[in-house]
Amino acid sequence: MNQNSVDHTIMRDMNLALILNTLRREAPLSRTGLAARTGLNKATVSSMVRELLDSDFLYELAIDSSLSEVGRPATNLELNPDAGFFIGAEIGVDFISVLVTNFAIGIVSRRYESTLKLYDQQAILDRLIFLLQESYQQVSRRGKPVFGLAVGVPGLVDIVAGTLLFAPNLGWKDVPLRQILEEKFEGPVYVANEANLAALGESYFGAGRRCSNMLYVSSGVGLGGGIVIDSQLVEGATGFAGEVGHMTVDRDGLACNCGNHGCWETVAGQRALFRRIEEAIQAGSTSWMAEMTGDDLDGLTIQLVVEAAKRGDEVACKALEETGRWLGIGFASLMNVMNPQLVVFGGPLSLAHEFLLPVVEETVQSRAWSWVQERAKITIAAHGENAAVMGAVAMIYRDVLDRPRDWLK
Ligand SMILES: [Zn+2]
Repeated sequence: MNQNSVDHTIMRDMNLALILNTLRREAPLSRTGLAARTGLNKATVSSMVRELLDSDFLYELAIDSSLSEVGRPATNLELNPDAGFFIGAEIGVDFISVLVTNFAIGIVSRRYESTLKLYDQQAILDRLIFLLQESYQQVSRRGKPVFGLAVGVPGLVDIVAGTLLFAPNLGWKDVPLRQILEEKFEGPVYVANEANLAALGESYFGAGRRCSNMLYVSSGVGLGGGIVIDSQLVEGATGFAGEVGHMTVDRDGLACNCGNHGCWETVAGQRALFRRIEEAIQAGSTSWMAEMTGDDLDGLTIQLVVEAAKRGDEVACKALEETGRWLGIGFASLMNVMNPQLVVFGGPLSLAHEFLLPVVEETVQSRAWSWVQERAKITIAAHGENAAVMGAVAMIYRDVLDRPRDWLK
């Protein structure tokens, strides 16, 4: 290829990506609307749209006569839900989740399993592969492409190699996850930190859809985060950005699974909440939760704590308040650092948002700079427990929309 045709190909790919991403955000749009939004001329838009229609990436909606111009009816365009499928998965500390969506991000199937009875790494990976195979088989019958598979993990990931370097709460190190999955499945495989994925998912099709600067914080057994600036997920120099749970907030604090002491996770995560409850009960406080678990507090769940708090159980309310206080302290510092438009709170602890968020907001009001917090909203994740798998879908989707060429017929 000579230089001119190389330039022409690059330009065409950029324009295709521009059209797809404009439709992602603003569909339905007519060709005229697309030309106005993208700044491309109408002839270019028509030719690109033709190519995308031929490849089933778009479809035309019924004619809208109100949009007609110069006697010619305008047809609106949308991304075609039947263009193909995305498979998102998550290996959590105590579960595996697999979600399949169509091209319009409608959920086609969802599988969720506890891994509490699977003690070893191999057993968990085997089970993940089995669930992924089931999902693949289910959609491959429909004769449409599977655009890729993305897996979120609760730890540090070398995103270039697709290797899980360290997952403190699983105790896993150096797992070449992408390589393992590429041996089993065709098509692109992505591996990324679950909270980074969740941030991307919330920014693409969740609470942060209309925000270009967003902080996502997920609290469960682990405490993770993701940062979106100028609508891009911040990966950092080597892909490790957003590990907010391991900021030191107490110099002489409790040991953390990461090897450090006094990490934010040790005071604002799920274990901290449960620890506060256990300590109160051991110190002699009576609680409905002790009754419900038959005094075996290993059986505590977030749902149970929320239920107790709703009944006015003092131990639950106090533990939630203390945990909300610590969450707010971290939120305030992070908000001062990054000045977000929106802070999205997700993960299992967000199930207790009605008790946590008022305390978080009060703490943020007293600790973050007023100029910063006045501009920022704090809200809960739109995708709840699906946040990371929806983010996994978003990661594949982002690549297909940015580089559609590989998938066009
Ligand atoms: Zn830590």
